[in-house]
Parts: sequence; C-alpha cells; structure tokens
Amino acid sequence: MSAAQPTPPATPGTRATGGCLCGGVRYRVTGPLRPVVGCHCEMCRRTSGHHVAATACLSEHLVLESAGTLTWYRSSPGARRGFCGTCGGNLFWSPDEGPHVAIMAGTLDMPSGLRLAGHIHVAGKGDYFDLDPALPAFEGDEPEGWVWPDGGVS
Ligand SMILES: [Zn+2]
Ligand SMILES: [Zn+2]
Repeated sequence: MSAAQPTPPATPGTRATGGCLCGGVRYRVTGPLRPVVGCHCEMCRRTSGHHVAATACLSEHLVLESAGTLTWYRSSPGARRGFCGTCGGNLFWSPDEGPHVAIMAGTLDMPSGLRLAGHIHVAGKGDYFDLDPALPAFEGDEPEGWVWPDGGVS
C-alpha cells in the first residue's frame, strides 16, 4: 500500500479574512492570494502615507461581509481605490480592466502566510528610506509574469 495522500477539500473555502481598523469594512477571500508587492508610485505614496504593500486575488474571490463605510476614490482614469470613510484605512485597488483586485496586505488578519516579493514603481519612492537590496525592485510596472508566473491565479 502506498502512503495515503491528504485529501484536499472539495470546494475552496475562506483563505483569508481582513478589514479596516474600525471594523466598518470586513472581507474574506475565497481563492488564492498573490505574493505581496510594494508599490511606490506617487498615488500609492500619497494615499498610504508611505507606500502600498498589496496582495491580490480574483475579484470574484473577494467577498465583502461589511461595507457600510467603504468609500471609493477614482485615483486614475483606469482604477479606483477603496478605503474606509470612518477610520481612513486603505483597503483595495480595483482596476476597471482585468480579473484581479489588489488588497492592502496590512488589512489582512494575521498570520497572512504571505511574503513580500519585491517593489514596483520605485521611481516614485519616498526619499527618506532605503529598500532591501535583496528584493527585486523595478522602476515602473513589474515584468509580465513576475509574481503570477502563469499570468493568473493558480
Ligand atoms: Zn474603518
Ligand atoms: Zn502604486
């Protein structure tokens, strides 16, 4: 007899939960999460007060359980940002095109099980700190397939 393999659950359940500081926004994620990417563009810098560190999932895998205080701000022609109108917590970056929504990693309930993969848009980085040289850092967008080698969530 061969060694028994653990049987994965038949249907994927909740992989992560999170929310803002005041609890006005609570969510859960029912699919895989991307490694965390630091974005240092000016929009992320100014909305976060430092820089964004975001994971992402398929939009259909993000379930809002409480969204009474969720407010959206169109930060660029192609995307909007979701934040809590009460406590100010930055939660989501949602592009108009594409299957994914980014989730600010610090809003996840810990432990997240995720790791920071590297940094993008470092040309817009604040000048008051240095990046870890052990992690990849890109001046602009990440190269195709960098954090999701298959071009999608696997
Ligand atoms: Zn809040
Ligand atoms: Zn950014």
